[in-house]
Amino acid sequence: MADKVRHCAHCGGVLEPATLERVSAGEPPMVLTLLGLPLLRCAKGHAVPVHRDFMVWLMRTLRERAGTEVPGAEAKGMLFKKYYCACGAQLPGQAGREGTFTLELAFEGAPPFRAEILTPLYKCAACGKEQARSAAELAGRVPEAVKNINDAAGFPHSG
Ligand SMILES: [Zn+2]
Ligand SMILES: [Zn+2]
Repeated sequence: MADKVRHCAHCGGVLEPATLERVSAGEPPMVLTLLGLPLLRCAKGHAVPVHRDFMVWLMRTLRERAGTEVPGAEAKGMLFKKYYCACGAQLPGQAGREGTFTLELAFEGAPPFRAEILTPLYKCAACGKEQARSAAELAGRVPEAVKNINDAAGFPHSG
């Protein structure tokens, strides 16, 4: 079991564990950056995810955690959305500063890495809490951002 060597689909070279220092994708209201992303790479630089389930795991994990770990308001209204702080006040229409939220991640058997989510913050005038406009909207942007990360990392399309 120990010497299960994987070979590159492009050139047949041996795939070795490696890390990508920094890869970034997406645009406001969500820029996703991965730091120290574990992957497999051949001598010619062709890269694949560390496991065939990795990208789907990443998408699911980030969607779940972006929705819970980034403070976010609640969107209401079908056609014209308004955003409400947990205190009940409506958020201002204009964002204040941008905030970065760091999530520590680890896929089983691979070194841990970090994800950063950069998003505009809206400051509640009533209670002063800074938050993303909508946690659900943020989570909804994760699949697209992960797809773009996949391409930025040079991974093949699968999953
Ligand atoms: Zn290769
Ligand atoms: Zn508030």
